Amino acid sequence: MESILYHKHLFILLKSQNLRFALKTTYAMTSILEISNLEKSYTSGSKKLKVLEDINFSITENETFAIVGPSGSGKTTLLGLCAGLDRLDAGSVILNGTELSSLSEDERAVLRNRDVGFVFQDFQLLPTLTALENVAVPLELQGDRQATKKAEALLQKVGLGDRGDHYPTQLSGGEQQRVALARAFANEPKILFADEPTGNLDAETGAKVVELLFELNKELGTTLVLVTHDMELARKTQNILTIRGGKIANLTSAAV
Ligand code: ADP
Ligand code: MG
Repeated sequence: MESILYHKHLFILLKSQNLRFALKTTYAMTSILEISNLEKSYTSGSKKLKVLEDINFSITENETFAIVGPSGSGKTTLLGLCAGLDRLDAGSVILNGTELSSLSEDERAVLRNRDVGFVFQDFQLLPTLTALENVAVPLELQGDRQATKKAEALLQKVGLGDRGDHYPTQLSGGEQQRVALARAFANEPKILFADEPTGNLDAETGAKVVELLFELNKELGTTLVLVTHDMELARKTQNILTIRGGKIANLTSAAV
């Protein structure tokens, strides 16, 4: 599902370039994400399956936030809704001051490209583009003339300055995820969603990717929302939301 979502996001964005300046956030908010009474069901055949119900939480700017829970509990679905990749059935998602359901699909794509970064378990690099071109994509979609130069600097930052010409298949899993991190931070997003970013990596490589993720997050002052199975990783964040069977089971916040 994720692969389709990211490619669809790029496609919508490409055809909605003229909306680039249409979206404006008019007032400063300390809350970057507010989820209220969120509900989501999937219909398969004649059956309706409720996947998320009664979800309420909010995330303050610059916070780090983990979402944990068993496989199938709705974590990826929740992340997709928070990032405006998918539509909810009821409730509301306010992302950086904008209620997502008030936007068209094209407007949501513009908002995502401006304010949101993504990192997926399976990297999601575009296979026909080099590492450098992959990192430059979100910048080029914003019409940034310095796209290539900025992408080069980002690749340097993730330790892959000498791999710019490599295609994704010519890179290891850890390297691909580092390229994906460089791409995710390219537009200096306000909020970054990472769905099991170490899920396909061995422990040592995963630890390096996590270190880099937190480093970039801190340096750029991004809000980080991380889905993980790994409690050790979750404990690196300030807040841990546990979901079970599509409902919030627990929310803990580190003492300030
Ligand atoms: P998690 O990420 O916690 O493993 P998901 O959000 O991927 O959970 O899935 C939650 C539930 O929703 C699962 O039971 C899954 O089978 C179901 N689901 C996810 N995506 C779809 C879809 N596109 N159509 C139907 N059911 C889906
Ligand atoms: Mg998942």
